[in-house]
Amino acid sequence: MPINNSTINQQSLLTQPIGSIHGVGPKMLPKLKKLGLQTIEDALYHLPLRYEDRRRLTPISRLRPGSQEVFFGRVLAAGESTTTRLRRKIYEVVVADDSGQISLKWFRYRKPWLQKLLPLGKQAVLIGEVKQFGSVREVHHPDIEILPDNVSDPLQVLLKDPLNFGRILPVYPLTEGLSQKQARKIWFPLVTQYADNVASPLPEEILHRQNLMPISKALRQVHWPGNQSSLHTLEQGRDQARNSLVFDEFFFLELGLALKRAGVQLEKGFSFKLEHRYTLPLSKILPFKLTDAQRRVLGEIKQDMCSPQPMHRLLQGDVGSGKTIVALMAALIAIENHTQVAVVAPTEILAEQHFRTFDRWLQKLGLKAVLLQGSMSAPVKRETLQQIAAGEVDLIVGTHAVLQEGVEFNLLGLGVVDEQHRFGVKQRSLLKHKGANPDMLVMTATPIPRTLSMTLYGDLSVSVIDQLPPGRKPITTKKHIGAQRGKAYQIIKEEIEQGRQAYIVYPLIEESEKSDLKAAIDAAEQLKKEIFPQFSIGVLHGRMKTEEKDAVMNSFREGDLQVLVSTTVIEVGVDVPNATVMMIEHADRFGLSQLHQLRGRVGRGADKSYCLLIPSDNYSEDAGRRLQVMVDTEDGFRIAEADLEIRGPGDFLGTRQAGLPDFRVANLLRDARILEQARQEAFNYVAQSKQLTTPESQSVRKELLHRWGGRLELANIG
Ligand code: ADP
Ligand code: MG
Repeated sequence: MPINNSTINQQSLLTQPIGSIHGVGPKMLPKLKKLGLQTIEDALYHLPLRYEDRRRLTPISRLRPGSQEVFFGRVLAAGESTTTRLRRKIYEVVVADDSGQISLKWFRYRKPWLQKLLPLGKQAVLIGEVKQFGSVREVHHPDIEILPDNVSDPLQVLLKDPLNFGRILPVYPLTEGLSQKQARKIWFPLVTQYADNVASPLPEEILHRQNLMPISKALRQVHWPGNQSSLHTLEQGRDQARNSLVFDEFFFLELGLALKRAGVQLEKGFSFKLEHRYTLPLSKILPFKLTDAQRRVLGEIKQDMCSPQPMHRLLQGDVGSGKTIVALMAALIAIENHTQVAVVAPTEILAEQHFRTFDRWLQKLGLKAVLLQGSMSAPVKRETLQQIAAGEVDLIVGTHAVLQEGVEFNLLGLGVVDEQHRFGVKQRSLLKHKGANPDMLVMTATPIPRTLSMTLYGDLSVSVIDQLPPGRKPITTKKHIGAQRGKAYQIIKEEIEQGRQAYIVYPLIEESEKSDLKAAIDAAEQLKKEIFPQFSIGVLHGRMKTEEKDAVMNSFREGDLQVLVSTTVIEVGVDVPNATVMMIEHADRFGLSQLHQLRGRVGRGADKSYCLLIPSDNYSEDAGRRLQVMVDTEDGFRIAEADLEIRGPGDFLGTRQAGLPDFRVANLLRDARILEQARQEAFNYVAQSKQLTTPESQSVRKELLHRWGGRLELANIG
């Protein structure tokens, strides 16, 4: 295909290092790098945080308390004094214009510098937030632009300095040693010179329909808004220029996802048949009936499995909604069709538990499951791998170990990834490549707000189990502060005396944190000796050997241990229905989704359950909000939404790990509506352009490849 030379040159200009920008010398370079800027393109997308209105000077009499103002003043008086109340020195300068006067104050200063800068009679433009104390207005630590002494009309001078006055100015994110003034001096020529090089291949039709401006124009306006702009709209990030950038960013993201989805539809996978050879017997021996929701999603899964395209389905269901049994049913369908199934879980404890569940039912059906663990001895491992490769095993359960190179299947028909949010997109694709387009079922208990699931899992179809198995009682969640800890112990005691079991969890965000680990182990000792000497207590943490962990988990599962003191290794998936109390120490140190997952370890049987949150002594306001959300609701969706709100999307799932792209402009909370529109346009465009194969779509295709780099492996495009 012919390639347009001028586009190539334009784009390669953008990938030039920022060191090549005019005005960026060896002193400035490390500062810009510290801001994460490597290329000219990065710098173009380093957008203002907010704006400052310097279109006009406000007369001193009209300065409004609470707002950022720009005004002219002549020094009437200046000097140092000591406040009686604060007993500290301040430097004060009184300035005036024709309309009135106001005082400027410094609390940290170098006196000689200020004396020299603002002597009596000096004229300056001052910028700062106006504060009001009683009837007195003042400005603390203003920014100062000194004017030449002979100036009669300050406004005239300002118009001669368009980089700093007479317009709406951008306020950039800075780093130490970089001032707003310097930043403007770099970004003004940069944007002027390079913005036009940013390719903007969005079809005219879409620009028009969505009321967008071309990217180059949008970039120029976001950095340097026109004087007619509304400051309010700008500050809210809702101006047309920013919307255009956001749309552009979402469009190419969704375009990639749409192509992946289309690519999957083009692939040829297994067309399974429903033989009922194992599924029917299983449903007869299961001790419960599937819920309506379970049956509905199973129907969706069956449809996918029977179709000739490979399944790519996300199964979302709150903790305890019964995803495992659905996965088991799907597994049996694959096995009935003489293929193998791989089940991958994020932790050894969960993998081991899944193995038990699957193995128990598979054995009854005369089928064979194996557990693949990183900690297996070499000979056992070799033997297991051979059995898998020879097709002697029907179902393989394991952690990341399953994804490693030496693991080869005879014929992989279905891959199941549990707690998908703990894995990246990469792992999903690794598992997929263990076979020839096997069906993929990925499961998550982290309910993902719609905006996020569209970006994260846009290439997957989604099934939701929105119903818990019958007979579940609500979990009583309480916050116990300081001295109320005794009450929490009392609840644990009463529950255990009725034959139930309890978890006590300590935060150990990094398993390598020795002090945390020691705290958890010490606390367990204290519990054993002083608080619950009458009960049997086990300890579980990530540093233990696999066999030790298994042994402790087994005794707890069998009821030999009444209390399990644990770090967060039990966070996901663990299922011991007789456990009815979850006590969480330093609950303020956990994130909301983690707390929700932890709480999900109880309330799994028919008995009333408790979640007892014990915050540290000095917990933050955000932590307080998180704990309150936990007390207020058990609804995973509401919790996820609150979480997204408190934390912001970047942090929500651990961006990188989850494969969520970092947005340069877009904000998932603020821009949800634009995301929906961009998604619709992108999916339409993929269909209309026949997967970007039409001649008109080639510039879009090229830009897409540029944006996605090597991350389009599923999309049959490259
Ligand atoms: P999760 O969706 O969190 O992975 P699990 O699959 O571990 O949940 O199921 C939680 C518990 O509910 C398990 O003990 C499971 O046996 C039980 N369970 C699943 N489905 C049903 C059902 N339809 N009726 C009753 N209990 C069920
Ligand atoms: Mg589970």
